Amino acid sequence: MKQIALLGATGSIGIQTLDVIRLHPEEFNLYAMAFGRNVDKALPLIREFQPRLVVVQDEETKDQLAKHIDQPILIGADGLIEVSVVDDVDVVVNAVMGSIGLPATLKAIQARKVIAIANKETLVTAGHLVMSEAKKYGVDLLPVDSEHSAIYQSLNGESKQDIHKLIITASGGSFRDKSREELVGVTVEDALNHPNWSMGAKITIDSASMMNKGLEVIEAHWLFDVPYDQIHVILHKESVIHSMVEFVDRSVMAQLGTPDMKVPIQYALTYPNRLDLPMTKQLELEEIATLHFDKMDTVRFPCLRMAYEAGRAGGSMTTVLNAANEEAVQLFLEGKISFLEIESKIERALEQHQRIHNPDLSTILSIDKETRERVRFHS
Ligand code: NDP
Ligand code: MG
Repeated sequence: MKQIALLGATGSIGIQTLDVIRLHPEEFNLYAMAFGRNVDKALPLIREFQPRLVVVQDEETKDQLAKHIDQPILIGADGLIEVSVVDDVDVVVNAVMGSIGLPATLKAIQARKVIAIANKETLVTAGHLVMSEAKKYGVDLLPVDSEHSAIYQSLNGESKQDIHKLIITASGGSFRDKSREELVGVTVEDALNHPNWSMGAKITIDSASMMNKGLEVIEAHWLFDVPYDQIHVILHKESVIHSMVEFVDRSVMAQLGTPDMKVPIQYALTYPNRLDLPMTKQLELEEIATLHFDKMDTVRFPCLRMAYEAGRAGGSMTTVLNAANEEAVQLFLEGKISFLEIESKIERALEQHQRIHNPDLSTILSIDKETRERVRFHS
C-alpha cells in the first residue's frame, strides 16, 4: 500500500489523482492532502478519504475548516513541507499551481520520497536545484505532465546517449485557429475554452498563449537532461500522440492514448508497473482516422520563443520567465490586462533582468517575488 501526500488536492490534477486512488483502494491511501482556500470543495474529499493531515493556505481557511474536521490542520508553505517529509509518506504528488510548490519539492527529495510531479513551474523556476538534489539523494522524479510521461515511457530501457531528439506535441490551445490580429480583444472566457483538455485556469491560459509548451520544453530539458537544440515542438491538434523520442538510428518511439490526465497520473503512481484504468476511453484509431501535424510558428507564438531564449540563457532567466508569466496570467484572469499584454509583460521582465548564473534557493525566491511585483505594479 503506497501512502500518498497530495499537494493541490482540489485542483484539476488533484481531483483526478483522487479518482485514481479511489479506483485502487488496495494499492493507494491518501495520507495527507493540501489545498488553498476552497473549503467547499475540500470538505467532502476530507470526509471521504479521511487523510491524517490537512494543509491549507492561511489561518483564516484553517479556522473555517477546523469547525468541521478533527484532523490536524497545517498552514502555508511550511505545512506543504511538513506533510511532504512525514516518515509514513511514500509518494508526494505535487499538483499545486505555481512556483509555491518549489520548497516542498526540494524537502521531499531530501527526505527521499518518490515525487510525482505535475507542478511544472517548480522545474522551470529552479530546475538546476531540483535535479541536482534528485541526483544527490537518488530520488525518482516521475512526470505527470502528459508529454513528459510520454517521453518517460518512450525512454523505458533506452540509454540517454542514443537520444537524437525529443518531439513534444502541442494541441495549439483555444486560439490555435486565430491569427495574431484576431487575438486582439479575446476574452478570458474565450481563452478558458480549451478544445481537448479540461484543466485549471492558469494552465488553460498558458495553453492558449503557447507558454505552456515553452514551460514544457524547459521541464523536458531538466527532466531528461537534453539540450534545447534537441527539443522540438510540433503542432498536433488531436492530442493523441502525447510526445515522441527520436533515437540516433532514426527510430521514433511515441506514446498514444485518448487525452485523459488519469493515464499519466496513474502511471506515475504505479511506475514501473501498470494497473487497469477502466473509466478511460480506449483509443479507437479507426474512428479518429486521421492525425494532423504542423510546423510550430514562433512568430505566431512569441511565448514559445521567449521560453527557448530564457532556457538557453539559463541561470535566473527561467525564474523570471515563470514569475512574470504567473503574474501576467493572473492579471489577465482578473480582467486587468488584455491577452496580448501577457506576452509583452513577460518580454519586458526578461529584458529588465540581469541574469544570475547559478542562483540558490533564496536568490530564486527573491527574484520570483521582485518579478511578480514589477509585473503587477511597474510595467
Ligand atoms: P488548479 O488551479 O486546478 O489547482 C491548483 C491546486 O493548487 C488547487 O488544489 C489549489 O487549491 C492549490 N493551491 C493553490 N495555491 C495553493 C497554496 N498556496 N497552498 C496550497 N495549495 C494551493 O491547477 P491544475 O490542477 O490545472 O494544475 C496544477 C499543476 O499541474 C500546474 O503546475 C499545472 O501546470 C500542472 N499540470 C496540469 C495539467 C492539467 O490537466 N490540469 C496537465 C499538466 C500539468 P484551491 O482549490 O483551494 O485554490
Ligand atoms: Mg502538458
